[in-house]
Amino acid sequence: MTRPTSERVRRPSDTETRLGIPGFRGEVIAAGHAEYDDARAVWNDMVDRRPRLIARCTGAADVAAAVCFARDRDLEIAVAGGGHNVAGTALCDDGIVIDLSALRAVSVDPVERTADVQGGALWGDVDHETQAHGLATTGGIVSHTGVGGVSLGGGIGWLMRKHGLTVDNLVEAEVVTAEGDILRASAEDHPDLFWALRGGGGNFGVVTSFRYALHPVGPTVMAGPVFWAAEDTVDVMRFYREFAADASDELGNVVRLGTIPPWPGVSEELHFRPAIAVASCYAGPVEDGGRAVRALREFGTPLVDLVAPTRYVDHQSGINDTVPHGWNYYWKSTNLTDLSDEVIDVVAEHAYRAVSPRSCVVMFHLGGAVARVPRDATAYSGRDVSHNIVIEGVWLPEQRVSLGALETAWAHEFLAALQPYRAGVYVNFLDSDDTNRVHEAYGDDTYRRLAVIKDTYDPENVFHNNKNIQPSRVGH
Ligand SMILES: Cc1cc2nc3c(=O)[nH]c(=O)nc-3n(C[C@H](O)[C@H](O)[C@H](O)COP(=O)(O)OP(=O)(O)OC[C@H]3O[C@@H](n4cnc5c(N)ncnc54)[C@H](O)[C@@H]3O)c2cc1C
Repeated sequence: MTRPTSERVRRPSDTETRLGIPGFRGEVIAAGHAEYDDARAVWNDMVDRRPRLIARCTGAADVAAAVCFARDRDLEIAVAGGGHNVAGTALCDDGIVIDLSALRAVSVDPVERTADVQGGALWGDVDHETQAHGLATTGGIVSHTGVGGVSLGGGIGWLMRKHGLTVDNLVEAEVVTAEGDILRASAEDHPDLFWALRGGGGNFGVVTSFRYALHPVGPTVMAGPVFWAAEDTVDVMRFYREFAADASDELGNVVRLGTIPPWPGVSEELHFRPAIAVASCYAGPVEDGGRAVRALREFGTPLVDLVAPTRYVDHQSGINDTVPHGWNYYWKSTNLTDLSDEVIDVVAEHAYRAVSPRSCVVMFHLGGAVARVPRDATAYSGRDVSHNIVIEGVWLPEQRVSLGALETAWAHEFLAALQPYRAGVYVNFLDSDDTNRVHEAYGDDTYRRLAVIKDTYDPENVFHNNKNIQPSRVGH
């Protein structure tokens, strides 16, 4: 591997400065600015950090200027994409936030079936533009989540069993490195960096543009959740285990245990009633989708069945209101090799012990195309598990004192009960007190390989406000 030296960005002189950052064209927001508090707010209201500067970048040149500025002054750097990371890594105290929120453009090439997406875009931006051509790529299942964090950590979503993870659809990325270089990473250019970007998180630079492969999807898909009473959980999960194992790759499934959201299509007496839901999305013809979910809809006695032909963009934003910006969140997560009877018993026993009616448990069904990609093809580790589970403590900001400790304890006890069945973890679901679980997310071989690539592109660990891969010289 050679150290990247080409396409170096010249460090401008002090006379070229704008609001203190040489060569920076975007807005710089500091404490006292009218927008400071809005600009430093992230999805999880538990996170309250006060950066010295928020540098709202207008392009890769601004990002490079901000990186050089911070390095010259030994300032902490945090990189903010969609601001959704539950651990709040988009923010730092006292340092500089490289804020990509103004970089949301999406450009689709319907002939090549690719999309160029700026590094601060949200999945709703991508779906909006790609679906105009009847195309899509695998993205997160909440449309206000950022493409940046999702794409760099792996990217699980409704389409993954048919079309692979987001990282499996990443064709190329434009990256600003710790040196302020602007590089293209792809299978041909800087292949080591390209491998690391596909799962290694924000450790290797700031991605200002992603190019994704697209696939025909929808625009209408058979999709939606079916809810059963909490008392039926063991039966539903045992049925679901076989249903999911037999499902074709087109069928994406997510199980949610908690309470029924107060949605308009749900009668009022069911609002906040404890329930298990299986939500599906069929990435193929609507009629085939109807056949694929029939057995699920006919199982037992559902309380509510919201499965219907649905616009893919609407399905992608269907649960947005259950996880809005500004609430308090605390997550614990693990991968699960399979849904054994023992795992099902633990899940059924713990899922409804949360006090907050907004807390829930979400289980993603992996397999299909995710499992067919060789384990060492990308830095994402976790292709050989059937599910991952996220235990989500959720409460309102005004309930912080009454519920915060209770929901946090619930999540800890639940994860502890799953201890015998744990099989790694998805890096993007780690919370702020999970810093000792980064190894668990990658496994030894992948972590070591990432650390060597970190030596090349960020040997001083400039990008460390993330799920940090330490350079191998620093040791681990
Ligand atoms: C409501 C909700 C739903 C979710 N659903 C899914 C899901 O369906 N599938 C899934 O895979 N994950 C999901 N996640 C987890 C998600 O992958 C992570 O939270 C991810 O970090 C969010 O990315 P972001 O850009 O919004 O976050 P940010 O907080 O902005 O970024 C997190 C970190 O990613 C890095 N980063 C972000 N953008 C860039 C960039 N352009 N260049 C370099 N580094 C960058 C930085 O290190 C940053 O600290 C969900 C999260 C939430 C809160």
